Amino acid sequence: MNIHEYQAKAIFSRFGVPVLDSHLVRPGDDVEQFCESLESHAWVVKAQVHAGGRGKAGGVARADSRQGLVSAVSGMLGARLVTRQTGEEGLPVQAVLLEAAVQIRRELYLALLVDREAGQVAIIASAAGGMDIEQVAQQAPDKIIAQHVHPAAGLQPSQVRTLAYALDLQKNQLRQLQAVLSALFELFVSCDCSLVEINPLIIDEDDRLVAMDAKINIDDNALYRQADIANLRDATQGNRDEERACELGLNYVQLDGRIGCIVNGAGLAMATMDLVKHQGGEPANFLDVGGAITQEKVAEAFKLVVHDSRVKAVLVNIFGGIVRCDLIARGILDALQSISLKVPVIVLLQGTRAAEGRKLLENRHAGLHQANTLTEAAQRAIRLART
Ligand code: ADP
Ligand code: MG
Repeated sequence: MNIHEYQAKAIFSRFGVPVLDSHLVRPGDDVEQFCESLESHAWVVKAQVHAGGRGKAGGVARADSRQGLVSAVSGMLGARLVTRQTGEEGLPVQAVLLEAAVQIRRELYLALLVDREAGQVAIIASAAGGMDIEQVAQQAPDKIIAQHVHPAAGLQPSQVRTLAYALDLQKNQLRQLQAVLSALFELFVSCDCSLVEINPLIIDEDDRLVAMDAKINIDDNALYRQADIANLRDATQGNRDEERACELGLNYVQLDGRIGCIVNGAGLAMATMDLVKHQGGEPANFLDVGGAITQEKVAEAFKLVVHDSRVKAVLVNIFGGIVRCDLIARGILDALQSISLKVPVIVLLQGTRAAEGRKLLENRHAGLHQANTLTEAAQRAIRLART
């Protein structure tokens, strides 16, 4: 799960990672009142969206007067921000963060992430932080260094020294880096993060290390024990269909093709998509209804997949184990009562109560086709999607 910069900065503060004083501004708030408390003559307005690349897309604006500040805020609030990470539609800006504009001496990059291959938390750092870090990663990967933290040994002073040396830090900055890293590592573990990124971690005019940007991703599987963080979910920032599926407790992932796939179980989802691709098609999504599904949820799942205008055919592939095929069939029929089906649907039911399920679907709708094998189902879906 993703959270906003202002939320990540609040967590940083709690763990002792230095951030600038800031104010969150929502529509209707009195901006001038906020600038009084941020003693400064220049301010920075930052659009709060779940995407980076804001600085290069007009989502981070500097204002040198109160008037300029007010107009920067009103220009951003309520608009949609398109950055290189958002897609063409962009994301709605429902709040902006206000900070004093500070003098920056250096911009560093610092991140912690789970390195699955190593089975450890990796600290990634670069002296070439800032808005061009992607370019640095591509063109000069040697400017990015990593240190892995052993889960039993924890962060070692020698590792901090290695990082500080690579970042070209002075002695008093090394001490600050030690404090920042210890705090970040504790935050990372106790909040079940999959990524914490500070880009830029700046060195200011007074030689202080400050997190100027903040990104935190939380492992979705740990949200059950991170209730405070789970509450920060902002449904306006995600893919609408994926959010809707999440509300329904379904696993749904959007892809780029034309064939919608409704399956049960992650393994069958992978196999189904592999076969669709093998037969020359491209999945538009996959929706895993899981095992403990109800008829109502099958209907909702079906509606979710067919309403996507990119979907030109739907492939339903159910291998009934715990889930019963007749329940799936009834769910599909329920959905067909409330929508007008515009794309062909190919259904393959096997396993528990497959015969009952197939019978229920027989001759019920001109757009419903049944198949006997997965290959046949995939070929048919691809053929019908083209017509
Ligand atoms: P993004 O990563 O989405 O582009 P950042 O928060 O990293 O957004 O901001 C982009 C750039 O804007 C930073 O690299 C920094 O140079 C500048 N910036 C951000 N906040 C401030 C601030 N409070 N004072 C001065 N410059 C800032
Ligand atoms: Mg940034």
